[in-house]
Amino acid sequence: MALVVIGGVAAGLSAAARARRISPDLEIVVLEKGPVISYGACGLPYFVEGRVLEANHLIVYTPEYFRKQRNIDVRTGARVVAISHPRREVTLESGAHVRYEHLVVATGARCDTCGPGSLPPHVFTLHTLDDATRLRAFLREKQPRNGVVVGAGYIGLEAADALRRNGLRVTVLERSQHLLLRSDDWWTAQVRKQLADHGVEVRCGVDVRSLDSPAVDFPADVVVLAAGFKPNVELAAQAGVEIGRSGAIRTDDRMETNLRGVFAAGDCAEVGHLVTGRPTWIPLSTTANKAGRVAGANAAGGRERFAGIVGTSIVGIFGKAFASTGLTAVQARAEGFSPVAVQVEAKSKPGYFGGSKTGVELVADRATHKLLGGSVVGEDGAAGRIDVIATALHAGMRVDQFEQLDLAYSPPFATVWDPLLIAAQQMMKEL
Ligand code: FAD
Repeated sequence: MALVVIGGVAAGLSAAARARRISPDLEIVVLEKGPVISYGACGLPYFVEGRVLEANHLIVYTPEYFRKQRNIDVRTGARVVAISHPRREVTLESGAHVRYEHLVVATGARCDTCGPGSLPPHVFTLHTLDDATRLRAFLREKQPRNGVVVGAGYIGLEAADALRRNGLRVTVLERSQHLLLRSDDWWTAQVRKQLADHGVEVRCGVDVRSLDSPAVDFPADVVVLAAGFKPNVELAAQAGVEIGRSGAIRTDDRMETNLRGVFAAGDCAEVGHLVTGRPTWIPLSTTANKAGRVAGANAAGGRERFAGIVGTSIVGIFGKAFASTGLTAVQARAEGFSPVAVQVEAKSKPGYFGGSKTGVELVADRATHKLLGGSVVGEDGAAGRIDVIATALHAGMRVDQFEQLDLAYSPPFATVWDPLLIAAQQMMKEL
């Protein structure tokens, strides 16, 4: 009997590919309801913007590639409508059944749109290749002048950036008082300034529950809904798979669910958070690929563990990077820590090498002096700097250890006192 994988993008295909490495002779079947597999959703905003010229440039592998090169049977247009674990069998919409010995659920997440039903022709989500293709065609054909983006998470702000670069007047509506998913005033002020500097209006505290709501009473020739994601768990839940408090599928560190032989990974599943020690749901491609690999390995008879995440992400808005990892002070307090936060601004490189201002925030625990999180905002070097903080979180470092890190310096790349170390010195004073 086969290993069956439901979902043919990041987590599902990582699982299938890893399973093949572990077990060269295993029968592996991937069932994907959509028409394409293996595409980089992360590139969709850049296709809408026009920087990525063709939608198919975002497709990494085809079903033929998997069939020929990996001996993996990838079927598109194959929507799974039921899982019967006692019978070790999934049922497709077509009525066909596929039997499994081990199952990987990698069904991803979906946009949390306003209400049920289909969307009006000028309203889009930005989740699939098809969404992006239709949105880009609409921008080209209808030449809209006013755009409204609902939701100021990273997809919403990437969409706002893309619309603005297409010449639209853009308003972003956000339910909370914070931007880019971080409950942090310092961070929100920086995001807000960057958007304002590039002509994007932001209104916080606007809850758009329905598209007919007076809150959407803005001049909008095109609307992009990016008000959050929901994990696709219904199929698994109906089969008896346990759902965690986050609403995503509960897994152990082998990515196995409560049903033996059923694994889950990617945007539909929880993983462990290394700072809080609790299960969390942070749907990102980085996690989907890694957790998918672990699920696939174990489903094929391996013994691998997923270490957990610290919630690292980065997004570019009009050329500036906003990167964060770990907990904000607000989140840390809610988790029972006694957080201290410091913010500094320092040059990314020496002035004579055109260094630009880089903002760094660190959050640490007053009781243990351990780092809990941080963020970096800047035009250059932000990705490397947030990765240093993320590494420190993985290692469970204290601020005095972080302050002593031997970081690289040469004028074209960095300063002798990196902004991270300046922030750490500031934190030591506070502690
Ligand atoms: P998905 O990619 O959602 O794939 C799940 C697949 O399962 C889908 O193809 C779906 O059709 C299929 N499926 C669902 N139900 C069934 C069923 N019943 N039967 C058969 N098939 C089914 N992450 C980052 O880390 N960095 C970024 O910069 C970033 N940018 C992003 C930008 C955008 C616009 C979007 C939408 C996402 C972005 N992400 C980013 C998130 C990233 O794309 C996801 O975390 C990743 O795709 C998750 O992979 P997955 O395999 O778990 O789920």
